[in-house]
Amino acid sequence: MEKLASLRDQMVDTQLIARGISDPGVLAAFRKVPRHEFVPPGLQDSAYDDSALPIGEDQTISQPYMVAIMTELLKLKGSEKVLEVGTGSGYQAAILAELCRKLYTIERIGPLSKRAEGILKKLNYHNVEYIIGDGTEGFSPSAPYDSIIVTAGCPQIPPPLIDQLAEGGSLVIPVGERFYQTLTVVTKEKGKIKIEPSIGCVFVPLVGKYGWRD
Ligand code: SAH
Repeated sequence: MEKLASLRDQMVDTQLIARGISDPGVLAAFRKVPRHEFVPPGLQDSAYDDSALPIGEDQTISQPYMVAIMTELLKLKGSEKVLEVGTGSGYQAAILAELCRKLYTIERIGPLSKRAEGILKKLNYHNVEYIIGDGTEGFSPSAPYDSIIVTAGCPQIPPPLIDQLAEGGSLVIPVGERFYQTLTVVTKEKGKIKIEPSIGCVFVPLVGKYGWRD
């Protein structure tokens, strides 16, 4: 356990701070959330490596730096209602749950959602709701959201996500080709939509009505 905690601190220093992540809240969340709880049993020793890892069902837990930069781009202050599309392992969800008021997280693969829910509950996160479904349609019952984060790659920005973004809110989403995308930040100010590209990235495909076909 102590070894894992020291690997976690090293991850924050060498992978996040060294690459420019500086939001104190984001860094504190990464020092706290036990990433090794979210990887499959045989991979715990690799949990703090500088890479994505398989989590079953052909899906991955994203690289720590990618989770950090996406979270930092959301500029969370603690009072937000957030929508995450792509629960996956639940690790990004735990980081968000540390930093916002209420998180809604959608996953299309039922067993992944259930597994993530079990881990987050065990770790005492009680401000998260788990939805199984197609996140390209967002989740209208609880819209609008102050922040929306999509953790799978999409050929276009799904229109329902723009509709469900609150005034003044930000949406962070990888947009592009099936195997290479650009992290994109969409903001809504006085009803106007602004789209700004950030860094290149590689995510598993977002599969759904406004995403890729399976
Ligand atoms: N945030 C996750 C990353 C998981 S990878 C983590 O921290 O581990 C992306 C996830 O998006 C996969 O689990 C995949 O099944 C899911 N996904 C793909 N298309 C989706 C869709 N339309 N709606 C919801 N989830 C989707």
